[in-house]
Amino acid sequence: MNESLICPYCGKEQDDVFEVFRNGVTDTNLQCQFCDKWMRATVEYTASFESFELPCLNDGAKHSWSKWISWGDELKRRYCKHCDKYEYTPKPEERAELEKERDELKKKIAEHEPKIAYSWPGGSCIIKA
Ligand SMILES: [Zn+2]
Ligand SMILES: [Zn+2]
Repeated sequence: MNESLICPYCGKEQDDVFEVFRNGVTDTNLQCQFCDKWMRATVEYTASFESFELPCLNDGAKHSWSKWISWGDELKRRYCKHCDKYEYTPKPEERAELEKERDELKKKIAEHEPKIAYSWPGGSCIIKA
């Protein structure tokens, strides 16, 4: 295997080979961009791995929560930026506070621009006109 795709006839490196191997294609007939001869071309990808510690799943550390994501006025979910855990319902006391902040901002903004996207510390949404 080579780092680049070389024509077996003229020995020249082919350009834009990733275009040829799109959509899961790993071998194909290919016409040389330089000498016009046909070759059989294959690609092989190597996997690489990485890992890191997840204290929120091992050591009782707190999850690193995103903001609550909302659709319309509903607070829908948030996720841990480290472990991908999702949480779907804010605790009642949390919800009350988030909704209060949201409603205050909503009122303030709606007075000026009836159609506007807005955000508050717990999330964001779009006011329907
Ligand atoms: Zn060639
Ligand atoms: Zn987590």
